[in-house]
Amino acid sequence: MTRKSARLQSKRKADTQINLQTTGAAEPPQKRIKSSEFQDSDEEGFEDQQVSEPSSHDATESTSSSRKKTRVSSNSSKKKAMKLVPVDERFKKVRGRLGLLHKLVTEIPLDVIFEIFAHLRPLDILRLSRTSQDLYKLLTSRSSEHVWRNARLNVEGLPPLPTDLNEIQYAKLMFDTICQVCGNHCYTVFWDCRVRCCKKCVHEVLLPEHMLHREHCRTMPQSSDFYRYIVYVPHDRTRVKRGMEELFLSSTFKSISDDYRKSVKVLNDAGERVTDAQKLAAWKLPMNTKRTEHQHYTRLCEQWSKGQRDSREDELREIRQQRRSQIEDRLIELGWGPELECLRQENASDNFWNHKLIRQSKLLTDRLWDQITPTIFELLQPVRDRRLRVERVNALKPRYEALKRCYDIYIFQQKNLKKSGFPPFGDVIESHIGYDIIFNTPYEQTLSEDAFDEELKKLPNFIDDWNKRKTQDLVEIVQKDIPEATVDTLGLAKTVFVCETCKDFLWYPEVFQHCCYPRRRADWETREYVPSNLDIYHGFNPYDQCGSVPWNKHSTRIIFWKDHSIHLSLIMQTCGLDPDTAFHEDLDSLNDVILECKPCYHNGRRNFMRWSRASHVPTPVKPSEQLRQKLPEFEKPKEWKRIRIAYTCDHCPDTPTGKQNRNYGDLCSHLLQEHGKEQVTRKDWSYEPSVTFSEKAPGQFTLEWPEDDVNDTPQV
Ligand SMILES: [Zn+2]
Ligand SMILES: [Zn+2]
Ligand SMILES: [Zn+2]
Ligand SMILES: [Zn+2]
Repeated sequence: MTRKSARLQSKRKADTQINLQTTGAAEPPQKRIKSSEFQDSDEEGFEDQQVSEPSSHDATESTSSSRKKTRVSSNSSKKKAMKLVPVDERFKKVRGRLGLLHKLVTEIPLDVIFEIFAHLRPLDILRLSRTSQDLYKLLTSRSSEHVWRNARLNVEGLPPLPTDLNEIQYAKLMFDTICQVCGNHCYTVFWDCRVRCCKKCVHEVLLPEHMLHREHCRTMPQSSDFYRYIVYVPHDRTRVKRGMEELFLSSTFKSISDDYRKSVKVLNDAGERVTDAQKLAAWKLPMNTKRTEHQHYTRLCEQWSKGQRDSREDELREIRQQRRSQIEDRLIELGWGPELECLRQENASDNFWNHKLIRQSKLLTDRLWDQITPTIFELLQPVRDRRLRVERVNALKPRYEALKRCYDIYIFQQKNLKKSGFPPFGDVIESHIGYDIIFNTPYEQTLSEDAFDEELKKLPNFIDDWNKRKTQDLVEIVQKDIPEATVDTLGLAKTVFVCETCKDFLWYPEVFQHCCYPRRRADWETREYVPSNLDIYHGFNPYDQCGSVPWNKHSTRIIFWKDHSIHLSLIMQTCGLDPDTAFHEDLDSLNDVILECKPCYHNGRRNFMRWSRASHVPTPVKPSEQLRQKLPEFEKPKEWKRIRIAYTCDHCPDTPTGKQNRNYGDLCSHLLQEHGKEQVTRKDWSYEPSVTFSEKAPGQFTLEWPEDDVNDTPQV
């Protein structure tokens, strides 16, 4: 078998004498660089599609020596090709593309090779020419020109070959992916200059007008000459930091400048170089024609390239849309539909669909799907967790609220519990009363009214036991300061507790109802109460959701306040109460007593107060009728209290869920409309139970008051 048919053999002999290298278009394979497919340039590929590719040389660089060298090697390759040569020793063990290509070039008849090449497109040929010396030589020889032409004709709609370019130059301009200067990846083309080159290298081949002008001045003194011929130099506008800049092809500038000087400038009698008008006109004529033609091709190439980009973008958009649908279908099939819906509702869909693994211009295959699913599931899992959490909260919260209602009613009915105290709802949660019903009923099922009836039977024993334990806890708290304290000590008026968190004064047994969570939770303590066994609540936190925690836990800190205990004992003594026997209720009898703080007397101004505000040890006084009339004015709630503090009506009946809370204004209109009270007195209302002791305490008042009025009169 010979390498080629007789026809080709004779034809090739003549062809090898001329080489396309003279056109300065091709370059031998040099170093290998990375570059990805042109078509994939605008997407982030999951699969690395990068291929190695040799870099190019400066397109315009071509010397006679390199030409000679190429011709020689071209001849030798021809000789090699004349007979069937075995695969090159170096490539014997090479598998895959390189080995195969080498075989292709050295063993297969050329007409067969050309037949194969006839189906390729320009970029394929460009890349082939860079894969091996043999292919390079073969493809850049004049005899292969038809390969390039065929490849060009294979591209539908491509503008015809511009008259100023050869096939290889044209192929590189339109289809290449590398910079003609540095050989790095590049898609920037300066169409009028016919240069594909990256921004970094642009000034190696293209120059701005002012630099060319400087160049001009070296050979011709008159600027007018410059402006006569610069219009014929190919130029492109490009964006630079300062805005747009006009760049000219410097090699053409030089040749046109030289040509202009030689053709238009003549020596006059004085020995000066001047412009010959006739010669100028003759020179301009063909230049104009050439320039018009050049620009015509510039426009064609530019438009074609833009069209390619646009249609490719449409194509990619369509592919991405299809891929998205594919992924969506598979996810729905796998049960992630509700999560996708959640994302839509949270307006977070875009974030998800724009993820780099999802938004790709590549259709999905089973293999790709397997690759991306772990990440996709990872992205969706938090959405699922959120969704299930919301579902859980929606199902469980009403159940706990129902249990709380049952508990409130039970407490309301057990009047004796007001005296002994009772557990906050948080302790009921902790006791697991109702737990089985709440968690073992399917979420979608609604609980009946009497669902907890059976469970509520556990309450009496639970409360009894709880009271015993917590009362003992309180005794132990007091015993830290008063070792001999017993349960009886707890009920005394002087046994004052304080919550370290909110500083509220508390007495037994109301101290059991004190809870700083979450209403009084201070900003720096907004930490959620998380029980150590949260997992038994399936991730739902009933304490936080119901705003109730077990007594004296998390943010509430009850201590016995010894100093205030002593202070209160002294006040009780001056008012005639025995601190060792007086109970907390007995303090109520002091509510009407007016006290005066003698140490605070100053310049005729006297300091009156109730027991709850006393800071020094005051003396009880008997208020005159005159002072009594002044009292309501001083003791009615201050403006901020009227808005911020909740009041309840004392004339309305008690309800299991407590009375309606109102601000002071609402309370007054309620008392007038419902109970006909035109004058609101302290006997008409109460503070809402969670109002603190200090919020309740009526203010002190300092008055200029005659010394002979309001005398010391022990009242009790
Ligand atoms: Zn470059
Ligand atoms: Zn507190
Ligand atoms: Zn005082
Ligand atoms: Zn009422």
